[in-house]
Amino acid sequence: MAKTKIVSTLGPACADATTMLALIEGGTDCFRINFSHGGRASHSAYVLQCNEARRRTDRVVALMGDLCGPKIRTGPILPEGQALKKGDLVTIEPGTEATLATHFSTNYADLSRDLAVGQRVFIDDGKILLKVKEQQGDKNLCLVLLGGVLHSNKGINLPDTAVSAPSITKDDWECVEWAVAQELDFLALSFVRSAEDIHKLREFLHGAGANIRIVAKFETPQAIEQMEEIILASDVSLVARGDLGVEMESAQVPLLQKRITRLCRMHGKPVLVATHMLQSMIHSPTATRAEVSDIANAIMDYTDAVLLSGETAIGEYGVRAVQTIGEVSTVTEAHLDRFDRDHPIGVPAAEHLLTATLASCVAQIVDKIDIVLVVVWSEDGWPAQFLGKTRIDVPILALSSDIRTCRHMCLNYGVVPHRAEIPGDVEGFARLAERLAVEKGLARSGDKICLVLGPPLGYQRSGQGMIVHTLP
Ligand code: PEP
Repeated sequence: MAKTKIVSTLGPACADATTMLALIEGGTDCFRINFSHGGRASHSAYVLQCNEARRRTDRVVALMGDLCGPKIRTGPILPEGQALKKGDLVTIEPGTEATLATHFSTNYADLSRDLAVGQRVFIDDGKILLKVKEQQGDKNLCLVLLGGVLHSNKGINLPDTAVSAPSITKDDWECVEWAVAQELDFLALSFVRSAEDIHKLREFLHGAGANIRIVAKFETPQAIEQMEEIILASDVSLVARGDLGVEMESAQVPLLQKRITRLCRMHGKPVLVATHMLQSMIHSPTATRAEVSDIANAIMDYTDAVLLSGETAIGEYGVRAVQTIGEVSTVTEAHLDRFDRDHPIGVPAAEHLLTATLASCVAQIVDKIDIVLVVVWSEDGWPAQFLGKTRIDVPILALSSDIRTCRHMCLNYGVVPHRAEIPGDVEGFARLAERLAVEKGLARSGDKICLVLGPPLGYQRSGQGMIVHTLP
């Protein structure tokens, strides 16, 4: 069983419960709704279908909403897909009208105010490069330096420009309200620029009584400057390699991936690596060797999860792509201890010190004794999160009475979440662990398992502890 978690982006290729179920059976742990595509009707339909797929499986599956942030995009291009050549002159202006490639609209009203002559404009993940030559009111005249085919609704990046739009736009706040009403499990914030952006969202969610975890997407140079503050402020970090590789030099991306994943490991926080993991599988049933190596290297960087975008949203081989991640993960994870097993979890926040230390002790015991499974009571998710971070060799069956906690644990490496009623005492927990371990095929009679007690179980129902237990 693969321990690395998989996030699959929803889209037209997997919009129905049956395909979603096939993706879950293939290994998907969490679905992502990207608010940059589709409207409220399609997003609501995804939630309905996802809930139906959830009803048809006993695996716990989370749902993430991805806020667009101040993402600038091309407007409609008609006819779709027009070629721009080096040396062409094009005009960009705010609006929504369908236009030609040489004079097209953008969703960003303040483009002219922010942009200046001489600055670069990248389109579609940097496939097209323009330079601003002249500005007349709302019109920005640009010279094409790198040609390509221009499509509607493609991302525009302005790496030389201080974009004045707020990190959480008016549209984003509407999506946040919708996400709260739909009880999504995670909200990803695109183009985060400071820890303050995370605090603002957290404050709103807290006020709304919403139990939604915040994912910080690292894709701007400003976020890189505040890396540690943002990691500490958020619940999960995401290395958004697509935009990061345009906003900064793409050659920086591998090093930034290592810096972000290492810091997340130090702080005991989950981290995801995204974009172009299996890009070729959008149209091909097999992965390239480079893609396979990239996934393996992300796992060796201690990523907790990988995120698929177009591969599942529009790809012809979505289920196969998910299975491929599982296959590469299983092979790589078996050798993970050879790389950096002794690297400890760093300095978690003071309130989690005991939980993190206990997790490290459990990992050492599992290393030395023939234990096949760890079963943890993880009512708030933290014990399971820290156990996953130790890269323990055996599966971690994490129990909670709260389905939202179970879904939050879907992004924790090595953790198999399961909802259960809180047992009356430690004996009851042991009986439950025995039954689930056998039912899920994780242990057999005579096997040693490790029981990790967390509140509300444990000594006087408040402490934490560990018991090595042999299955009858
Ligand atoms: C990215 O830029 O890598 C990313 C994951 O964001 P999005 O898919 O929203 O462009």
